Amino acid sequence: MSKFSTRLIRWHKTNGRKDLPWQKKRTPYKVWISEIMLQQTQVSTATPYFKRFIKEFPNVKKLAETNLDHVLSHWSGLGYYARARNIYEAAKIISSKHKGKVPNSLEELISLPGIGKSTAGAILALGYKKKAAILDGNVKRVLARHRKIEGELSLPSTTKNLWQISEKLLPNDQIDVYTQSIMDLGATVCTKSNPTCEHCPVNQDCLALTQGLVETLPTKSKSKPKPIKKVFWLIPQGPEGDLLLEKRNKKGLWGGLWSFIESEEKEALEDEFHSRFKTKYLNLKRLNKVKHNFSHYKLEAIPYLAELKTQKKYKNSVWVNPKNVESLGLPTPIKRTIEQITTS
Ligand code: SF4
Repeated sequence: MSKFSTRLIRWHKTNGRKDLPWQKKRTPYKVWISEIMLQQTQVSTATPYFKRFIKEFPNVKKLAETNLDHVLSHWSGLGYYARARNIYEAAKIISSKHKGKVPNSLEELISLPGIGKSTAGAILALGYKKKAAILDGNVKRVLARHRKIEGELSLPSTTKNLWQISEKLLPNDQIDVYTQSIMDLGATVCTKSNPTCEHCPVNQDCLALTQGLVETLPTKSKSKPKPIKKVFWLIPQGPEGDLLLEKRNKKGLWGGLWSFIESEEKEALEDEFHSRFKTKYLNLKRLNKVKHNFSHYKLEAIPYLAELKTQKKYKNSVWVNPKNVESLGLPTPIKRTIEQITTS
């Protein structure tokens, strides 16, 4: 066993995280759901979502039997909704092809929607105690520093190098403890900024530490400023105050979630409205601009509330009481806009 893994396993006994909700009565299913939720999401944010999700969908069967709307409503506000759509699709495949049992081979796991090599490795190591490597963001950072890997993390050559290191370091025993400990080290000690190297169990032979490179590794990608996408939203409001929402196309951003009538040109909003209602609104009120950061661009939306005399419904639309939208899958900016309306 490598010194690296021996030290980490020993360290984990006294310093590892042991109370995370997905660690209680751990199953491959819980590992899978938690790993997907933790992509691009902090533990503190993911925790209440995970608890609610597992309560509602305690196993693959329950998840596969529900509908996408129900799954999305439990993901509402967590962002990156393709994750929820993939989880649902994968659950249906596991249910029909694998009798509801999360597969225990790398090949079968990575053939499922939304499961990459690192997630599959975590399911195998933590859920099945099988020897498999992981390479999530935390592990990349730990290994890049400890082994002084200087290429940008976004480069395929760097990833390939880090995978080889991650696989080489695997212990033959206690793979679950080791996997959890390297995750914990990245999350609690070898953090992005201000790592506490003095408490690190592998600081004796960390190349970044001995060569004064902790602050510069991993090498940051040259980031370009994010473009701004401007859109206009039209929100029909009925005489009783109900709002009209439209379900987005399954594919693309916010696929399957509920949103407003949208256009990139303010002038085109009127046409969009007319094509649906064949009438004119009574009054149009501009609301406060809503901003939201996506991984590749910044969204700036200007919502308009359009008062109507009557409520008309069409395909993939729903009239809702704005104070009662909990059961719908809503992206955060849409939720914030509805809050604006209910509090104004
Ligand atoms: S010594 Fe510091 S930089 Fe090196 S692995 Fe430990 S925490 Fe990370």
